[in-house]
Amino acid sequence: MTRTFCPKCGNDVDALYGNVCRQCFIGDKKLLESPAVIHMRICPTCGSIYRRGKWQSRGEESEAIIESVRENLKINKQARDIGLTITPKQLDYSRYMVHVEAKANIEGIPIDAELDTEVRISWETCDTCSRIAGGYFEGIVQVRAEKRLPTQEELDRCRGIAEDIAVRAQEKGERLAFIAKVVKLDEGIDIYVGSSKLGKQICRAIVDTFGGKFSESPKLVGQKDGEDLYRITFAVRLPEFVRGDIISADDKVIEVQSSGKLVSGIDLETGRRFIENFNYILEIKKLGSRQDAVPAVLVAYEDTSILVLDPETYETVAVKRPEFLSAEPGDEIKVVKTAKGIYVLP
Ligand SMILES: [Zn+2]
Ligand SMILES: [Zn+2]
Repeated sequence: MTRTFCPKCGNDVDALYGNVCRQCFIGDKKLLESPAVIHMRICPTCGSIYRRGKWQSRGEESEAIIESVRENLKINKQARDIGLTITPKQLDYSRYMVHVEAKANIEGIPIDAELDTEVRISWETCDTCSRIAGGYFEGIVQVRAEKRLPTQEELDRCRGIAEDIAVRAQEKGERLAFIAKVVKLDEGIDIYVGSSKLGKQICRAIVDTFGGKFSESPKLVGQKDGEDLYRITFAVRLPEFVRGDIISADDKVIEVQSSGKLVSGIDLETGRRFIENFNYILEIKKLGSRQDAVPAVLVAYEDTSILVLDPETYETVAVKRPEFLSAEPGDEIKVVKTAKGIYVLP
């Protein structure tokens, strides 16, 4: 193997790179540079970080630190095949020491470098948190039920739906998609939302889940920077009937499975499925609920009816025989007594 010497340092070497030895070649190149201290602004309440001129929500704090260091690194423009390892180590509440290792090629020569930098966090309340703290909201979603009180389960689910939508919108960068507060009232709940867009999304999702309907009415509350400021009241009405309700719909008696624009359930006289547009039913009335069901003894089958022992009077009464009934005479079955008579439940 031919040996040569480096004209710069005079050392004996195997090969030259750009007329100097490898050591001298690398010595001229700076692969990696970073400010000694990198400053970050983080919201102590929600953890949002201030980046590229605006607040953004984020996940893990250490991920945000790594991202911030990566953005502040200056890497030699000639470098190719760059591999970076960034390792943050927390020093105290507001400081991280971050070690950076880099591997790359410059003009085909493998070169590596490492450095340390410090990340300092200044804790500042973000735009969203300061609005929440200041009591800001753009809309109120009023959740009520049509001609009845909403159940606790319905209200819990509505609240859950609202929170899920707010989280997803925040993840998409909608800073005002926050829920300022939820107020519990006798007749339902009021959900105060940071943006009217969020309010509308919540209404749509609640109606998708439960049926029912919503309306919106804007109210002028003042002016800001010469523009009218509105607050929007969204009135959500959960449907009048819920799963398990026994209703009379014109000439039929139905156990409701779902109710919204469409009412669906089981026809308790025939046992067949029932589905009808709410608006096409002329007379609709609640007769009872599955919760009112009582056990009764099946006495005998007849053609289109059955005989059961009335659980209160102990008289034998004839009841319409639904398709789903498969009990034997002598068995106990579930019935519900209503103003329109006794019905067997599936
Ligand atoms: Zn040299
Ligand atoms: Zn915040």
